[in-house]
Amino acid sequence: MAKVLDSKIPAGPVPEKWKEYKAHQRLVNPKNKLKLDVIVVGTGLAGASAAASLGEMGFNVINLCIQDSPRRAHSIAAQGGINAAKCYQNDGDSVYRLFYDTVKGGDYRAREANVYRLAEVSNNIIDQCVAQGVPFAREYGGMLANRSFGGAQVSRTFYAKGQTGQQLLLGAYSSLSCQVQAGKVKLYTRYEMEDVVIVDGRARGIIAKNLVTGKLERFSANAVVIATGGYGNTYFLSTNAMGCNCTAAVQCYRKGAYFANPSYVQIHPTCIPVHGDKQSKLTLMSESLRNDGRIWVPKKIEDAKALQAGTKQGWEIPEEDRDYYLERRYPAFGNLVPRDVASRAAKERCDKGFGVNNTGLAVFLDFSESINRLGLDIIMQRYGNLFEMYEEITDVFPGDLANEINGVKYYKPMMIYPAIHYTMGGIWVDYELQTSIPGLFAIGECNFSDHGANRLGASALMQGLADGYFVLPYTIQNYLADQAVWPKVSTDLPEFAEAEKKVDAELDRLLNIKGKRSVDSIHKELGHIMWEYVGMGRTAEGLKTGLKKMHELEKEFDENLFVPGTKEGLNIELDKAIHLRDFFTMGQLVAFDALSRNESCGGHFREEYQTEEGEAKRDDENYFYVGCWEYKGKGNEPELIKEPLEYEAIKVQTRNYKN
Ligand SMILES: Cc1cc2nc3c(=O)[nH]c(=O)nc-3n(C[C@H](O)[C@H](O)[C@H](O)COP(=O)(O)OP(=O)(O)OC[C@H]3O[C@@H](n4cnc5c(N)ncnc54)[C@H](O)[C@@H]3O)c2cc1C
Repeated sequence: MAKVLDSKIPAGPVPEKWKEYKAHQRLVNPKNKLKLDVIVVGTGLAGASAAASLGEMGFNVINLCIQDSPRRAHSIAAQGGINAAKCYQNDGDSVYRLFYDTVKGGDYRAREANVYRLAEVSNNIIDQCVAQGVPFAREYGGMLANRSFGGAQVSRTFYAKGQTGQQLLLGAYSSLSCQVQAGKVKLYTRYEMEDVVIVDGRARGIIAKNLVTGKLERFSANAVVIATGGYGNTYFLSTNAMGCNCTAAVQCYRKGAYFANPSYVQIHPTCIPVHGDKQSKLTLMSESLRNDGRIWVPKKIEDAKALQAGTKQGWEIPEEDRDYYLERRYPAFGNLVPRDVASRAAKERCDKGFGVNNTGLAVFLDFSESINRLGLDIIMQRYGNLFEMYEEITDVFPGDLANEINGVKYYKPMMIYPAIHYTMGGIWVDYELQTSIPGLFAIGECNFSDHGANRLGASALMQGLADGYFVLPYTIQNYLADQAVWPKVSTDLPEFAEAEKKVDAELDRLLNIKGKRSVDSIHKELGHIMWEYVGMGRTAEGLKTGLKKMHELEKEFDENLFVPGTKEGLNIELDKAIHLRDFFTMGQLVAFDALSRNESCGGHFREEYQTEEGEAKRDDENYFYVGCWEYKGKGNEPELIKEPLEYEAIKVQTRNYKN
């Protein structure tokens, strides 16, 4: 019988939970705040907003990041936008509707109460960011503009051209800088958390590596918050920034924090297709493009074959011979179905031989209809930087007129294919965002909290900023309220010395393997295993094979890795080796979870469990829970612990995007 976890959700009907929570929670006496230290690891949107808010509220904050500036966190890459239920369009949006869409989009595997809270604070985020001066796009009349993202029939996505993450991060960074200047936040750039220190069962500090000097340093505090992003780079090729890693999260997992729903990995449908084996990164073409771009493959297999052979171009295929397969299969949502649905539909067409590039693994994203309807100027105003980015990478400009057939103008289409993009799984947290280790909190993409089995577009920024600006600053006080009476924890305690010794020994171990293979060559191989056996379509047999191959490759890593240089000073290869060590733990965790979940839901697609139409087939009777995993040592199978899901406000049903 699996252990059962309590998420500490307050009682009461869903819409009242957050209000009730706020009314009953404890707040820290302002004088005591001055005595309390909080470590926030990460300066992405989640970390920077949390550090700034905690500093503003009076706590002493230690904030670390691996980059040379908080402004270079991966959040800067976010293109498309951030959701909020403002209903500026007067199109029937509401907090309840955003809540409903998010729960449905997550294939009914998210915690209902968390999602309601998220929807409720979504509007505060926009107000906060506007107050900071974030330059959201505006309508001609001055009103903030909105566009649509997948899984919604309303327009609720706020954006700043194709660089929303960057602008939001600049806003958070301004607030953070203000607290740095006020002396409330001490910022450590180019520091990497290597371990969490547990004293008497509570998180009391961390061991971090100064990435420039190579020295290990100890930090103690009354609570530790990790905001270190997702684990998409386990797959080697992903849309994530090259530095994204899961080291901090995996170390917390090894120290006893449960890891929830690792198999829920998001594969984004609109990325530039892989073009060779020398590639180390994939590029996202924002989902916002699906507002005006139409996705298609040829209707006739001979046209597809000609495209693959390079004897025909997309613009030579007339309207009547194009299969707008998303519009055909999902008339109600069309090109704006959620990402998991759109990705699987692209794979289905390509698997059937209708792919449109030389590898057969691409579909078209075409702007001809919208350029003909709105003009290139308008389309460029909306997506100009994305068109330019696409041209820089592929040498094709999607606004170039290429053909005219029967009076219809055809422009050069983009080619896209699904790629690893976001991880819904993460460190398990309760309603207060506290992990299973008291005093250790997790926010943003590194926790599992709000997206269930699939995240809707523009919801990650919403969740990261909700956690950082509005949720954690309240909930952490419930924990900190008692802490002011305890003496400060000294970094001389044996627990700190022990943790530092272990990290140091690991660095020596990696440097002393002195084998023949580079970190990247092994990582690339791990990526191939992950994509092939733990990727878009999974089977029990494939997952077992994947696990076996991962074990073998991990052995190769332990015995034949070559890390040049020493541990003194800057050693990027050594840092990457640490990350790869943890990607191995993560990859196996994803596979164990996927193997244990004998159903398909959201981003987790088990080929054995699908409907006749190829849609994901859930099994609510047996798998209506959050799957949490407890570490049991290297090479051992982790233990599954279940947190049952309880729905009060929303009827659990099969997702339908057709009508
Ligand atoms: C190309 C792209 C486009 C996207 N577009 C959108 C969008 O339009 N809308 C949307 O909602 N979402 C989007 N997303 C998702 C969204 O950007 C991320 O989920 C979100 O930014 C994650 O924020 P975060 O603060 O949790 O983590 P991150 O931004 O990844 O920040 C992690 C932080 O942790 C630090 N860190 C990591 N490891 C350590 C360590 N061991 N020690 C110390 N520090 C560490 C890093 O330095 C960094 O500061 C996009 C994602 C990608 C890849």
